[in-house]
Amino acid sequence: MARVVVIGAGVVGISTAINVQELMPGSHVTIVAEYFNQDTTSVGAGAWIVPYAPGVDDSTQRRWSRSSMDHFTKLAVSEESAESGASICMGIHYGDEPKTPPYKDLMLSFDPLSKESAEKLNLGKFYCYTYTTVVVDMGTYLYWLMAKFKARGGAVLQRIVTSFQEFEGEYDVVVNCAGLGAKALTGDEKLQPMRGQMIRVSAPWVKHFLHSTNSFYFLPNVDNVAIGGIKTVGDYDTSVRHETSEHIWKNITKIWPPFKKAKPLWEWTGLRPYRVPPRVETEVIRYGDKSLKVVHNYGHGATGISLSWGTAVHAAELVKEMCTPTSRL
Ligand SMILES: Cc1cc2nc3c(=O)[nH]c(=O)nc-3n(C[C@H](O)[C@H](O)[C@H](O)COP(=O)(O)OP(=O)(O)OC[C@H]3O[C@@H](n4cnc5c(N)ncnc54)[C@H](O)[C@@H]3O)c2cc1C
Repeated sequence: MARVVVIGAGVVGISTAINVQELMPGSHVTIVAEYFNQDTTSVGAGAWIVPYAPGVDDSTQRRWSRSSMDHFTKLAVSEESAESGASICMGIHYGDEPKTPPYKDLMLSFDPLSKESAEKLNLGKFYCYTYTTVVVDMGTYLYWLMAKFKARGGAVLQRIVTSFQEFEGEYDVVVNCAGLGAKALTGDEKLQPMRGQMIRVSAPWVKHFLHSTNSFYFLPNVDNVAIGGIKTVGDYDTSVRHETSEHIWKNITKIWPPFKKAKPLWEWTGLRPYRVPPRVETEVIRYGDKSLKVVHNYGHGATGISLSWGTAVHAAELVKEMCTPTSRL
C-alpha cells in the first residue's frame, strides 16, 4: 500500500490528494499543512474558472485547462452545486484592444458584444466580449473538497514542514503543494508573490461578472460580490492598504455605478504563488545513501483555482508513476 504525503491544504493540495486517492485505490494519503480553510490564499479567491498557464507548452496547458473546466462544469450542473459552491455565471470581458483572451475557446460561450450593446452598458469605448464560465465560492468549495478527502479515508496533520527530509522513510512519495511556501522548501527563485487585494460587498442584485484586461473585476459569490483587484509581483505585504482599496473602489464604481449603493462587508489581501511556468514535475532528492521521491505541484499564480483540478490529475499520475516498481524515477 503506497504511503503518500501532500504538503498543503489549499485548493491545489486537497485536489491533488483526492486525485491520488482516486487513481491509487488503497493508498494511504495524508495532508500536512500549516494553515487550513480560512487561513489559506485559496479561500479568498473570487473565483472564476478561466484556465490558462503562462509559459506552459500548448498541449499540457490544454490538458490541464480542459480537465479543470470539465470538473467544475460537471459540479455546477450537478446536485452538488450548492454544497460545492460551483455555479454557472455569465459576464463581460472588456479591454482597450481587440485581443481575445487565450481561454476563449474553453468557455461555455464566448461572443463579441456589439458596439451598440457595449454603449448601453457604458462600455462603448472598449472592445467587449460576453462569456459563460463557472464561478466558485471558495469559502464553500474548500470545505467540500476536504470533506471528500476525509470521507475517502484521508488523514490530516497540522504542522509546519521545514524540510522534505522529515518524511524520509515514513512515506513513499512527498507531494509539494505548498503554494508560496514552496519557495522556502525548494529555494526556487522563480517563485514570487503576486499580491492581490479585494473588497467584498453585499449587492444581491448583481448576477453577472465583469472583467477587464487592466485587472479590475467583480464577480458574484453565494452571499457577496468580490471586487478587485491588483496584481503586484514581488510584494510580500499581507496588510490591507487603504489607498489600494480606494483605488479599486473608485475604478469599479466609475465603470459600474450600481456599487455605490452596495454595503461593504470586508477587505482582504492575498499573495498568489506566481511562477512562470507553474511547476508540475518529479524530483528525486538524495540524502547521502538515501533518497526521497517528490512530486512538485505549485506556482499557479492568478489562475490557481482554475488550474487546480487539471494540475492535480497530472500530479497524481506522476505520483502513481513514481510508486510503480518499474519506475526509473
Ligand atoms: C485576490 C485574489 C483573487 C484570486 N482570484 C482567482 C480567480 O478568480 N480564479 C483563479 O483561478 N485563481 C484566483 N486566484 C489565485 C488562487 O487563489 C491561487 O493561485 C491559489 O489559491 C493557490 O492555491 P495553492 O493551494 O497553491 O496555495 P495556498 O492556498 O496558499 O495553500 C498553500 C498551503 O500550503 C501550506 N504550506 C505552505 N508552506 C508550508 C510549510 N512549510 N509547511 C506546512 N504547510 C505549508 C499552507 O499552510 C497552505 O495550506 C486569486 C488570488 C488572489 C490573491
